[in-house]
Amino acid sequence: MHANPGNVFMVVAPSGAGKSSLVKALLSQDPAILLSVSCTTRAPRPGEEDGREYRFIGAEEFKQLREEQRLLEWAEVHGNFYGTPRDPIDAATREGRDVLLEIDWQGARQVRQRFPAAIGIFVLPPSIEELESRLKARGQDAPQVIARRLMAAGGEIAHAPECEYVIINQEFSVALSELTQIVSAARLRFSSQAARHAELFAQLGIPAAH
Ligand code: GDP
Ligand code: ADP
Ligand code: 5GP
Repeated sequence: MHANPGNVFMVVAPSGAGKSSLVKALLSQDPAILLSVSCTTRAPRPGEEDGREYRFIGAEEFKQLREEQRLLEWAEVHGNFYGTPRDPIDAATREGRDVLLEIDWQGARQVRQRFPAAIGIFVLPPSIEELESRLKARGQDAPQVIARRLMAAGGEIAHAPECEYVIINQEFSVALSELTQIVSAARLRFSSQAARHAELFAQLGIPAAH
């Protein structure tokens, strides 16, 4: 039996770098990837829908999920709690499906303990000035929230070296194409291909990787 072919992708970035926009565009062209819907205690932004961007829950419910070990990882980010429900990720990877998590660096570290082969993709803004103008242009956060996120950006960026890949999101279409290539490359790794095409590999007498 070959290793499970499902990949775990983690997209990490400071707020406003464009991670949600890139992930949304990736999934629209590749619906086979399961997007993890996090639980959060932050309030929904205008246009956000419960169960789509996040499951919006209260602090008590969050605490309960944590205590019942139902979160694969969790972290406090910008004064709110965020966590990844464990069951959908375990089910998808068991079935060999690719999953994608949009999480912060603290969460990425925890996911690696459970999935050591998880692939970290860090999205950088082309400059701090551009990050600020994107956060303002998005127009969905109060000025104090934007200020807090900008203050936190350096701290998040300092963890970029923990990721395997880096995308600089200057030209959106270029960044999207780079994200697509990372996903494709992961699927073409020996272990993934051997699991996906087990019969062919057996017919061709290809030995298992060591
Ligand atoms: P954005 O950064 O502007 O997209 O704002 P969000 O409120 O969507 O996300 C805030 C932070 O929480 C980001 O650093 C996310 O990566 C992180 N985050 C979102 N979901 C999760 C999660 O399930 N677990 C962890 N650890 N972090 C998360
Ligand atoms: P994040 O999820 O990392 O917080 P978003 O995906 O919400 O970031 O993007 C922040 C803002 O920047 C959004 O208004 C988005 O439309 C815009 N944006 C994303 N990528 C680019 C880009 N390459 N050029 C210009 N604006 C962008
Ligand atoms: P926002 O509040 O702008 O949606 O997200 C702020 C930050 O929280 C982002 O950097 C995002 O990556 C992070 N985040 C969102 N969901 C999770 C999660 O489930 N776990 C962790 N650790 N971070 C998350």
